Amino acid sequence: MKVHLSSPDITSKEIEMVLKVINGRTLSMGPMVTRFEEMLADYLGVKNAVAVNSGTSGLHLAVRALGIGKNDEVITTPFSFIASSNCLIYEQALPVFVDIDPLTLNLDVNLIEEKITARTKAILPVHVFGHPANMDRVLKIAQRYGLAIIEDACEALGARYQDKMAGSEGDVSVFAFYPNKQITTGEGGIIATNDGQVASLCRSMRNQGRGHAGTWLEHQVLGYNYRMSELSAALGVAQMERIDEILEKRRMVATAYNTRLSYVNGVKLPYVAPDVQMSWFVYVVRFDADIDRNRIMHDMQSHGVDCRPYFQPIHLQPLYRDLFGYREGDLPICEYEAKQTLALPFFSNLSINQIDYVVETLQKAIKSL
Ligand SMILES: *Cc1c(COP(=O)(O)O)cnc(C)c1O
Repeated sequence: MKVHLSSPDITSKEIEMVLKVINGRTLSMGPMVTRFEEMLADYLGVKNAVAVNSGTSGLHLAVRALGIGKNDEVITTPFSFIASSNCLIYEQALPVFVDIDPLTLNLDVNLIEEKITARTKAILPVHVFGHPANMDRVLKIAQRYGLAIIEDACEALGARYQDKMAGSEGDVSVFAFYPNKQITTGEGGIIATNDGQVASLCRSMRNQGRGHAGTWLEHQVLGYNYRMSELSAALGVAQMERIDEILEKRRMVATAYNTRLSYVNGVKLPYVAPDVQMSWFVYVVRFDADIDRNRIMHDMQSHGVDCRPYFQPIHLQPLYRDLFGYREGDLPICEYEAKQTLALPFFSNLSINQIDYVVETLQKAIKSL
């Protein structure tokens, strides 16, 4: 049996929406992007949503819109997808990594304050795997020191921290819609903010720095082409109409894994804090210290089960070693957890048969160690 790591949940509804756009011939800068933005703003309960062509573009614009630039420091996590700190490097700002909480795998909020300097401008928490960071503490620290908050919510659409939507509390938040995310637009992202000025700056920057009312060839600020196409937005609208259904299906797959894996020795299930409602992005287990994750992974892969180490620590990526001189041992909790984690196949239409096969393959791999 072959089981893929992820797969988008596309129905005839999505296909019809995209076809309608193609038939209508307005492929960019039309009503579908606006509709998608309105749906997201509504869903998140924020005043503004600005669609862009990727989560990475969204993070870049968020950093620029907050005026974060050369040598400004931003406190963030090393346990993430690389875009969450590359967006700082684009602007010559400096990511300052704090180690992670070994339970939630999010940045350890107890370590933030000791990293604050006169050059610190913002905190950039990542809601890793769809589990929101401790936003209570992040907000309090940001308030006390006058720092901005950029939420990388690219993995957390629909997650809740206490009663609040992930991505609804920071100054700016970013979501992503690559095909492995909860919902997809092919490629795409959304910038969410209650700050009208930040939103309007992001709208201008995604569109070559054009003003609202200006002419096509008048460019007021340094801009980019980070626009989302109408085709992507159409796909996104159809996905958002099904968001509750999709998230519920993902939750049920996670529950099915939890039930089966709770009997497997050496495997730790994903942790969910009591005040958190997880939005399942990936299903990541952790192995006990005496289990060689890489051997398990290769064994499972050789039996057709697609699985991957999520994540490699950002500070140990070749680029970051080169730029900042990071070495192994600098962020020990992150490094340890990263060695023990394994993302199993996970998507909304994963069948019970496939789940059983993945769990069986995993059990056999552990036994054969
Ligand atoms: C997916 C993701 C992004 C953005 O990815 P894009 O591929 O650019 O849409 C950013 N940060 C994290 C943590 C992500 O998982």
